[in-house]
Amino acid sequence: MLRRTSLSTVCEEARCPNISECFSVPTATFLILGDTCTRACRFCSIKKGTPSPPSKDEPFKVAKAAYDLGLRHVVITSVTRDDLADKGAMQFVKTIEEVRRLNPGATIEVLTPDFGGRGDLLRSVLDVGPDVFNHNVETVRRLHHYVRPGADIDRSIDILKLAKSYSPGIVVKSGFMVGLGETQEEIVSLIASLRYAGVDVVTIGQYMRPTLEQLPVERYWEPRYFDIWAGIGKSMGIKQVISGPFVRSSYRAKEILKGMGVKDAVH
Ligand code: SF4
Repeated sequence: MLRRTSLSTVCEEARCPNISECFSVPTATFLILGDTCTRACRFCSIKKGTPSPPSKDEPFKVAKAAYDLGLRHVVITSVTRDDLADKGAMQFVKTIEEVRRLNPGATIEVLTPDFGGRGDLLRSVLDVGPDVFNHNVETVRRLHHYVRPGADIDRSIDILKLAKSYSPGIVVKSGFMVGLGETQEEIVSLIASLRYAGVDVVTIGQYMRPTLEQLPVERYWEPRYFDIWAGIGKSMGIKQVISGPFVRSSYRAKEILKGMGVKDAVH
């Protein structure tokens, strides 16, 4: 179906290790605004360069694919579009509206870029009512500029904070990878920053090098550490901390909503 409709998923473009499990369920995270990113994060295998203008058909195609697959929870993400005046926010708005029109019973999760820190663009996306707003911080503060040139951890935390204060009823989610050279103390400090921002759900996973062109893995953290971080996050008051070597930000997204009080999320 993806080949036939020319739709992209982050599952394929980012070479996610969970792709077989997710596609067999079936779940998928649709990648909108093309398959080429204007930023160049050093861990990410998505194509970098100058993207094409947004496709007018894309919102309908995503909505139709979700309908044909019978998805009850639709996850939509995008590349970063620093080239567009609205940073791609309107394509999120149109896609959410179209997915809801064709799939009225489904819950919708968006995993967005930082929209350049523009609160007006974030609010326009929140105004059309996604059930979950997700924005990843990806790595600890000290490594941020090296791992994510073009991004800014304070801008990301401000976006999360604004999302929670503007739409208190929405589930706000964020996540990061370990294995890029961070320390235990830096990880705990990042969890605390996310708690301070009002994040409800945190995902923590092990970085795995997608190809030899991306950063090498500095450390494979032993599985017990993921349990320790989950415990620390919960003791700080974060509602759910999904933490494990293979956890990715959309991994089992539908199940994660169970217990969060989101309507009709689990089927
Ligand atoms: S902004 Fe997102 S899609 Fe673009 S390079 Fe960074 S992680 Fe990859």
